Amino acid sequence: MPDGRETSNQQLAPLEAWLAAAHETPKDCALFLDVDGTLAPVVERADDARVPTDVSRILGRLSAKLGMVACVSGRAAADAKRLVGVGGIVYAGAHGAELLDPSTGEVERAPELEAWHKPVRDFVATIDHAEMRRVGVRLEDKDFIQALHWRGAELEEEAEQLVRDAEAGARDLGFEIHHGRKVLEIRPPIHFNKGIVVSRLVKQSGLQYAAYVGDDNTDVDAFEALLELRAHGDLEVALCVGVSSEEAPQQLVDRADTMVEGPAGVNRLLQEI
Ligand SMILES: [Mg+2]
Repeated sequence: MPDGRETSNQQLAPLEAWLAAAHETPKDCALFLDVDGTLAPVVERADDARVPTDVSRILGRLSAKLGMVACVSGRAAADAKRLVGVGGIVYAGAHGAELLDPSTGEVERAPELEAWHKPVRDFVATIDHAEMRRVGVRLEDKDFIQALHWRGAELEEEAEQLVRDAEAGARDLGFEIHHGRKVLEIRPPIHFNKGIVVSRLVKQSGLQYAAYVGDDNTDVDAFEALLELRAHGDLEVALCVGVSSEEAPQQLVDRADTMVEGPAGVNRLLQEI
């Protein structure tokens, strides 16, 4: 580290301090990015989401420049990689339960999750699928996480009610429930979130300057992980970037060091690195 950097960075706001480090000592920097709503604009159907090619190109450049680039998604790790389309970066899928290592191409999964694979799917099979189709609830199969979407449902109120009823049943059976933007996820009752995987990746890498960019509640866990790492001296700079949208949760706005305007704002930020 150049003389005086530590002092000068501490006087800068996190955004300026992280960007300065990314220019001066890029191999000391980690960049974590959520995918949907952050790199890919939110669309009615998760299957239709796309990461713009210029964003993929910038990520390819940054993966060579920075110490680490990682995409952290609720999607399965392989699906996140398919969507982002960049080799050489880490993909943490299923909110951190899966890790796709770019050097091996292998997906590493928490073993305790395997035991919950079938029960989660069996529960979802008990929901009235004809009724789901009638009101417009869509089931997204994320392997051992099952997501019920009501974005764009033909009968939105009925769709949301159907999801709430399913939520009550899932809670009774001990599954973990997670709320996102017009989506409810039924998960194994095992503690994993984006913050846990981000914390693990930062500690393993020993990188000193970490930034996280995200748009939703699940990303706040990652914000908190970075702040905790900084408080414990594991990070020199922790930068939390929120992505604004009409549905941006208040806690995301409250916890972010800075907000950018939608995926287009993320694109502009990436160009500055
Ligand atoms: Mg998102």
